[in-house]
Amino acid sequence: MKQSKNLAIGLGLGATISIIGLVAMNIVKKGVKAVEPELAAQASNIIFEKPCKVLALSPHPDDLDFFAGGTIKLLADRGFDITVVDVTDGEKGVNIPNLGSVRQYEQRRAQKVLGYQNLKFLHYPDMKVNYKRLMRDLRNIWYEVNPDIVFTFDHNFPLKFLAHKDHLAVGKAVCKLATEMDSPAKIYLYGSRKNNVLVDISEVLEDKTRAVLSHKSQLRFSKSLYSSTVKKLGSYAASGSNLRHAEAFRAFHNFDSFPMG
Ligand SMILES: [Zn+2]
Repeated sequence: MKQSKNLAIGLGLGATISIIGLVAMNIVKKGVKAVEPELAAQASNIIFEKPCKVLALSPHPDDLDFFAGGTIKLLADRGFDITVVDVTDGEKGVNIPNLGSVRQYEQRRAQKVLGYQNLKFLHYPDMKVNYKRLMRDLRNIWYEVNPDIVFTFDHNFPLKFLAHKDHLAVGKAVCKLATEMDSPAKIYLYGSRKNNVLVDISEVLEDKTRAVLSHKSQLRFSKSLYSSTVKKLGSYAASGSNLRHAEAFRAFHNFDSFPMG
C-alpha cells in the first residue's frame, strides 16, 4: 500500500485523472467485477454477434485503453469498424512540456497496438469539458459514424474514485444523445460499479498491456508495476466467473433477454 500512496503523490491527484494510478490504488478495495459473473460472461457473446460500427469515447487519452482496450482489440481483430474519440488531450496533471501533443502521440501508438481504424481528437480543455458543446459535437459524430455499439464512461454508477467531472460529462452526454436520437445502438459503460457484461480478454491481455504502456507520460514507476496492475484489474473483473482475465461493463440496449445489473 505504501507504493500506492506514492503513486497518488507522483501522479498529481487533484489535477487530471491518471487512470492507471487510481486503479492501482483502488483495485482491490472497489468493485469492478460483475454483479452476476456467469451471466455476465455469457452476455458478452452479444457484442461479438457480427462485425458492425463502433464508437468509443475516451474523456482522457488513457481511459478507454485501460478499461476497454482488450475489448477494442478483440473487436478490431474481428473486423469491426471502430472510431475512437478522445474528448480532451489530458494536458494537465503531469509537468511535461506540450503534454497535450505528447499524449496525442501516445494515443496513436496505442491505436496501432489495438489495430482500429479511426481516431479523432476533440481537443477540449482538460478538466473543462463543456457539456453543451460536447452534445453538439457528439451529435455530429454520431450521425457521421452511425454506431451500432457505443462505449463510454458510466456517469450513473461510476466507481467512486473515477467520478471525475470530465468522465461524468462524457458518459451523460452519450446516454442523453442515445435517448434523444432513439438510437438502436448498444451502449457499454466502463468504469462502472454495476457491471452486467464480462468480456474475456485473456487472449489479448498482452496487447492491452502494450496499449496502456503506450501512455508513457502517465507512467511514473516501473513498467512492471503498471503491467501487473492491468493484469490484476483483468483477474479481479473476472473473479466469480470461469474467465481468467476480463473487462467489465454495464450495458443497456433493446434486447429483452439481456441480464441487467
Ligand atoms: Zn480520465
